[in-house]
Amino acid sequence: MPHIIDGKAVSAMIKKELKGKVKELKEQGISICLAVIQVGNDPASSVYVGNKKKACAYIGIDSLAYELPEETTQEELLSLVGELNRKEEVNGILVQLPLPGHIDENAVIRAIDPKKDVDGFHPQSVGALCIGQPGFVSCTPAGIIQLLKRSGIEIAGKECVVVGRSNIVGKPMALLLLRENGTVTVAHSRTKELEEVTKRADILIVAVGKPKMITREFVKEGAVVIDVGIHRNEDNKLCGDVDFDSVAPVCSAITPVPGGVGPMTIAMLMHNCVEAGILQ
Ligand code: NDP
Repeated sequence: MPHIIDGKAVSAMIKKELKGKVKELKEQGISICLAVIQVGNDPASSVYVGNKKKACAYIGIDSLAYELPEETTQEELLSLVGELNRKEEVNGILVQLPLPGHIDENAVIRAIDPKKDVDGFHPQSVGALCIGQPGFVSCTPAGIIQLLKRSGIEIAGKECVVVGRSNIVGKPMALLLLRENGTVTVAHSRTKELEEVTKRADILIVAVGKPKMITREFVKEGAVVIDVGIHRNEDNKLCGDVDFDSVAPVCSAITPVPGGVGPMTIAMLMHNCVEAGILQ
């Protein structure tokens, strides 16, 4: 059997480390505050926002919650973001996505002060990542780098294939692997002979949003497989983009769903908040 990469344990370790750091900062008179804005009451978003608040409470980060009605206008939301940008005691601003259809998500992301952009979605943060300068990094791909490093998996010189090129996962993932000196290929829905491409990977990262799409035919013997996908199957059980039972026997290490990449996203959000507090 392969090594099962335990995202829950790694996430718990990072949160514990952050709790210690926040305590030290408090002793120096520095407290950290995250403002979380939710527009509407999409149940999945409410769960994510609730988990973020819980993580803040555990680590010792103050959280301000703004629960706005579905009919909030773009101007109202931009005005709140502007107000939070100006508030010195707020270190991080997070706008829970997706936003209702009448609001331009990109305009809202662009309005966040890059110094408070703890989600790492602002074009300035993405540009900084691209040219190797400091800045906040999108939490899910940053969490995957931590999972690899803390599992003792070397990235430098490895063939890394990322399947998916979204702005929040695939693209920043590819840039981070490049920063770690991996040899990176990005595949997407227009890639020809996907199996041939993914089979080159020593490290295969899958973020396609298609349940159990990646089966053993896509995976080289001994590869490390990271599954970003989250879905509910017909029995209401969670599964990923990778068919775990098919792939596990051929790979050397794999993330499960649940309990793999998922818990890392919040841990890295907390990490970004602490960084924001230190840098401001
Ligand atoms: P998107 O839908 O934004 O992007 C999916 C990507 O996969 C696109 O680039 C698309 O290509 C590519 N793709 C789709 N079908 C195929 C195919 N048949 N072959 C090759 N490539 C394909 O998804 P996200 O990146 O936002 O999320 C991906 C998955 O990760 C989802 O299941 C999501 O729920 C999960 N997720 C999990 C997180 C976590 O914390 N664990 C956080 C974020 C996402 P193209 O660009 O050509 O259309």
